[in-house]
Amino acid sequence: MTDKYTELVSHGLGKNVARKLGLPQPALLRRYKPGQALVTGPILVQGTTAEADGLAAALLSWDLDVRRHAVPREKLGAIILVLDELARPEDLEKPVLSAASSLRDLAPSARFITVSRPAAEAGNPPQAAARQGVDGFLRSLAKELRAGATANGILLAEGVPATSPSALGAVWFFLSGRSAFVDGQFLTITTAAGQLPADFDKPLAGKVAVVTGAARGIGAAIARTLHRDGATLVLVDIPAAGDHLARVANEVRGTALQLDVSRDDAGQRILDHAVQRHGRLDIVIHNAGITRDKLLANMDHSRWSSVLDINISSQLRINEALLASEHFGGSPRVVSVASTSGIAGNRGQTNYAASKGGVMGMVRATAPLLSARGGTINAVAPGFIETEMTARIPFAVREVGRRLNSLQQGGQPSDVAEAIAFLASDAAGGINGDVLRVCGQNLVGA
Ligand code: NAD
Repeated sequence: MTDKYTELVSHGLGKNVARKLGLPQPALLRRYKPGQALVTGPILVQGTTAEADGLAAALLSWDLDVRRHAVPREKLGAIILVLDELARPEDLEKPVLSAASSLRDLAPSARFITVSRPAAEAGNPPQAAARQGVDGFLRSLAKELRAGATANGILLAEGVPATSPSALGAVWFFLSGRSAFVDGQFLTITTAAGQLPADFDKPLAGKVAVVTGAARGIGAAIARTLHRDGATLVLVDIPAAGDHLARVANEVRGTALQLDVSRDDAGQRILDHAVQRHGRLDIVIHNAGITRDKLLANMDHSRWSSVLDINISSQLRINEALLASEHFGGSPRVVSVASTSGIAGNRGQTNYAASKGGVMGMVRATAPLLSARGGTINAVAPGFIETEMTARIPFAVREVGRRLNSLQQGGQPSDVAEAIAFLASDAAGGINGDVLRVCGQNLVGA
């Protein structure tokens, strides 16, 4: 699925015409390719705290070009603003305005990252105000950046250092082209657990992963991305999609399991297949999902129940089977696909939004159960992604959906897959019960 408009206004005559008419000119995003440099220029780490020093030293140890002070007119690949010791709202001004003076030096597709502490864990009202202020600041800045640049934040739970594996993992993810369509979002690092990969191009080496709904669309992209990152794959889809499923499985040298995830025994069938064919199961990606849109006034039993059953009840049943099994041990990872519809709501999608809201509620409540066995569960909430699902939306509605975000374009299935691959990796072992939106910062709704 392509966005022809973005291609047209990116070069030559189309670019000139769009500029003259004042039409949106979405940037061509810098997406990750193996071997690609992490960022396009030096990284300016701003902040005066011990955490800022530690983070700068850690990035230097990755052989990155790191600055502690801005060099006038030098093009920057990224600015990282460390704000972990805010005590009151007035503390924001100095570091924020100092970072502001370097904004014009950001290169195309540059990154702006804040590192701060969660407001919910603040010790007093002024500190909570300062911390929550970072949220509003960052989300507004993301809407101001241009040319494919993004702004995202990392929240370090109390006692978690900026140099913990998952804090560094999140910095790595936000800096890289893997997060090209993630904008205006926060990741919370809840614990100092996790481990950085020996090879950043193969963070899933040695892992066995199951992807549901893998015959096409986002699921097929997840399969390709996890394979690229080193995982061995089991791909699940309904028997009617068997031919497509076999094709994707061949491509990623995985095995295919024809299975309707809403069957009562789906969890056991997945476990049996993974263990018999590959000896273990480390990662489960709940991606299978359907839409049956209707205004609520016209909703019927079959539309409501099929969407709820496939999109959320099946995930609950499969998780129950996984958690009851000794084969899902070690440091197991679950990542579920939610949707921004489940956050902001969407006309005609009361059933779908209920199911996707359900996914996020389930993820938060299941997090302690996974952490008890050294694992994690998180969700990714895609916004408008260019797939067969969204290609069926009428043109005018589709154009609104794809342009009304800070990056003025729809995401690619690979953008969702990159976020999932990161959350499934050991580098994200300290992130649990979180929801990461991959939506280019949708302007509509939350
Ligand atoms: P898609 O319709 O292209 O693919 C979904 C796949 O799931 C299909 O291969 C289908 O056969 C499979 N599937 C459906 N029911 C199944 C079942 N009972 N058992 C096993 N497999 C089943 O959809 P997509 O756009 O790739 O969406 C993938 C996921 O992303 C879904 O959960 C969807 O809700 C979510 N999502 C998509 C978008 C978007 O813009 N496309 C946005 C937000 C969320």
